[in-house]
Amino acid sequence: MSDSVPTLSQWIAGGEVAGTPDGYGDVTNPATGKVTARVPLGSAADAEAAIAAAKAAFPAWRKTSLAKRSRTLFRFRELLDARSEELAKIITAEHGKVLSDAAGEVARGLEVVEFACGIPQLLKGAATANASTDIDVTSLREPLGPVAIISPFNFPAMVPMWFFPIAIAAGNTVVLKPSEKVPTAANWLAELWREAGLPEGVFNVLHGDKTAVDALLHSPDIEAVSFVGSTPIAQYVYETGTANGKRVQALGGAKNHMVVLPDADLDLVADQAVSAGFGSAGERCMAVSVVVAVGDVADALVPRIADRAKTLVTGDGTRSCDMGPLVTAAAKDRVSGYIAAGAEAGATLVLDGREGEFDADGEGFFVGPTVFDHVRPDMPIYTDEIFGPVLSVVRVETFAEAIELINAGPYGNGAAIFTNDGGAARRFSADVEAGMVGVNVPVPVPVAYHSFGGRKNSLFGDTHAHGSEGVHFFTRAKVVTTRWPGAGQGGLDLGFPRNV
Ligand code: NAD
Repeated sequence: MSDSVPTLSQWIAGGEVAGTPDGYGDVTNPATGKVTARVPLGSAADAEAAIAAAKAAFPAWRKTSLAKRSRTLFRFRELLDARSEELAKIITAEHGKVLSDAAGEVARGLEVVEFACGIPQLLKGAATANASTDIDVTSLREPLGPVAIISPFNFPAMVPMWFFPIAIAAGNTVVLKPSEKVPTAANWLAELWREAGLPEGVFNVLHGDKTAVDALLHSPDIEAVSFVGSTPIAQYVYETGTANGKRVQALGGAKNHMVVLPDADLDLVADQAVSAGFGSAGERCMAVSVVVAVGDVADALVPRIADRAKTLVTGDGTRSCDMGPLVTAAAKDRVSGYIAAGAEAGATLVLDGREGEFDADGEGFFVGPTVFDHVRPDMPIYTDEIFGPVLSVVRVETFAEAIELINAGPYGNGAAIFTNDGGAARRFSADVEAGMVGVNVPVPVPVAYHSFGGRKNSLFGDTHAHGSEGVHFFTRAKVVTTRWPGAGQGGLDLGFPRNV
């Protein structure tokens, strides 16, 4: 731990607060290996302070008119749009992804803010006049209260923005617990909210690790939890949160397959496989990690993939590289270990990312693009989420086998098919067990006004992120039945009310 680097603060009740952390973690620039900041590891007391701020801000925020709330969102949107480059630089400095990729992340988060700007329309309820004689019925959706958002390292800005714009627009207050590996973006966003005029306490940032998460999961004042991260922690958060009476959506890990049928354009497929497999160094929950080559497609496809992957420049994300480093030294070691295990298990190592040169200074956590052919479903490189730049090609005989292979796996986030056969694409979309399907689209991340979410071990809970499901998650229903009886319309009636 270095004393010469800045120490981040918690952001509670509208400003920076030192708090009483249990300790500090190092924040590292993965391209150089250098420690750039210290992040407080929030204590139970810090969590209580953040939750108390969110609780105190809720009554006034929920009563704030939709017009005022949506105007605050519009101001936040304008500020974010104007200063998005600043945020992209912060992301690159702590996550490592190349600047253009970081800018893309911010742009996708901005889309959710834009969606949430329309909250008056999104919260419009339903009204029925004269449902029974002289009785009117109105259905409303109301905010929940203080909600927690717990996010992973791989999208320091976009994943929090899948949730907080809608949560806030709908009248909730928020405690964001960002990944301790990439904490600075959260404070930057908090400052932006302040500039946009959001009242203090509506958006709070609680830095920390398991202690902070557990405090949120056990707090009686947190009404709902939106989590994104690895499958074991997603399951833990879902089980602990729901056992404590909370509404929970917990998005987990993934292993996304891309099926290639013999009629596909293999040059286009190779471009897409390389882009989707190695973008963000494979540290995307929607990255393609398995190419399922049907028939004899692999013989022509694998060389095309390898040729393209060899041209990628891996290095410091602030330079004009295609791919940055992995997030930590531990991630680099883990991914390198999988590459060794894949070769040992008998897969053909077509391109080895452990070798090669990297365009960077210092001790960055680099692994270059890696391609395996002849991968079998029993190998660890197939069964496990590697979360690195490792693309596996599995060869199958038939289209039916390809679908069976995907559906037998434990994850169900994204799945894609590449073909010119509309009927096959339609069958794939209908039969594949994945929450998000791409037809000639390798990374089918839904736009903000549709909803994002997987199946099986990729999502615990039943509600996806953003779009109408996001609005639903951050609100609860109320139905008001109204009558204004006139004189003489009273009288006793102990029977169950009937509609007349
Ligand atoms: P992670 O599970 O290690 O951490 C996620 C969050 O949980 C962090 O805020 C972390 O501080 C917290 N956490 C970690 N360990 C904890 C514990 N024992 N108890 C309580 N909280 C804990 O995930 P990560 O490594 O930051 O992110 C990568 C993972 O996230 C990958 O598995 C990836 O697939 C997944 N992911 C999924 C999606 C999706 O939409 N399904 C999106 C992005 C990332």
